[in-house]
Amino acid sequence: MDVNYHFTLYYVLLYGLIGIVRLLPIALGCPSAIIIIVKRMWDVFGQSKAVNLLDSSAVAGRLAHAYLFIGPEHIGKKTLALNLARALNCLGDDVPCGDCVPCARILAGANSDVQIISLADGAKEIGIDQIRDVQHTASLKAYESKYRVFIIDGAQHLSTEASNSLLKTLEEPPENVLLILTAVHKGQVMPTILSRCQTVQLHPVPIGVIAQALVDRWGVERERANMLAGFSGGAIGWALEAIEDASIIVERADILDKAIGVGSAGINERFNWAAEMATLFGQDKAAVFFSLGLWTGWWRDILLYKQNCLNLVINLDRLELIKKLASIYGVKQISEFVNSIQSAVYNLRRNVNPRLTLEVLMLSIPKMDDERRQRETRSVSF
Ligand SMILES: [Zn+2]
Repeated sequence: MDVNYHFTLYYVLLYGLIGIVRLLPIALGCPSAIIIIVKRMWDVFGQSKAVNLLDSSAVAGRLAHAYLFIGPEHIGKKTLALNLARALNCLGDDVPCGDCVPCARILAGANSDVQIISLADGAKEIGIDQIRDVQHTASLKAYESKYRVFIIDGAQHLSTEASNSLLKTLEEPPENVLLILTAVHKGQVMPTILSRCQTVQLHPVPIGVIAQALVDRWGVERERANMLAGFSGGAIGWALEAIEDASIIVERADILDKAIGVGSAGINERFNWAAEMATLFGQDKAAVFFSLGLWTGWWRDILLYKQNCLNLVINLDRLELIKKLASIYGVKQISEFVNSIQSAVYNLRRNVNPRLTLEVLMLSIPKMDDERRQRETRSVSF
């Protein structure tokens, strides 16, 4: 009796201690300890808050039946969704272990129960046929895993018909099925769909985290890693694509050159650019947001240089021009224009007329600082 009692006590204390060790860092809000957990089990960089939420729900067996991951392009929404699919189907002790058969097959894109639904090449919408396929497959028992997982990557592309059809599945979710939707902004998703999903907000990955990941995980040389991380603006997926394809850097430089040129162009050229961008918005919204993101980063660099924060400047390859513009424009002007670009992005995401939005933005490009103008005028007069 005594022996059994002591064995029971021993196991209660042992498993209690393991539980405390696992949960203590979260309970204490210790960021470094949480990062270690994230790195060990979830193959995701810089999304500690989202990962901790999903990890604790998965461990407790309390995952929602549908999630909506919100965040900018290329910050890791699809990667997080695939990690959640692994966590749900993992056979290891620390889910997702990364080593068991389901984890390995999902990682390799070979698990037939985990499907990614996205915009087909050349298509403008995710159509109702794609959602009908999801509904048919969801009604079947999982083939090789515990759960079927459907990742609708880019829910903003769902047609109205497809959204309405998906709503039925969200209202009466089949057993052992998890739906994960991704979108850049909540406003792009039908409110009825939004209300039936648990929203998880993702944020741009800190530049330092990206740079370190590029060095440690992908073997990128430190200086190049710092440059790519800075250029990425927190979009780790962009940095990873740029490692493989150098033309992405050239393309970025071209887009930035055009945006910088608009800043010093006459009103006609500015309005031509606004018209071009409005047309592009109809074909490729992400390209317009990328361009406006680069422009924001450019003016932010000028502001940071003015504030003597050279260590935070991203576009160091254009430092001479940054220096020159920092001497021309005032802090207030620059801050106001950065806000104007952000307002334009906000309005574009809410489907305000793109041409009008971009023309208003063109009119808010800062003029030369008055003091500078007076100083330059005086020097010309003398
Ligand atoms: Zn596993």
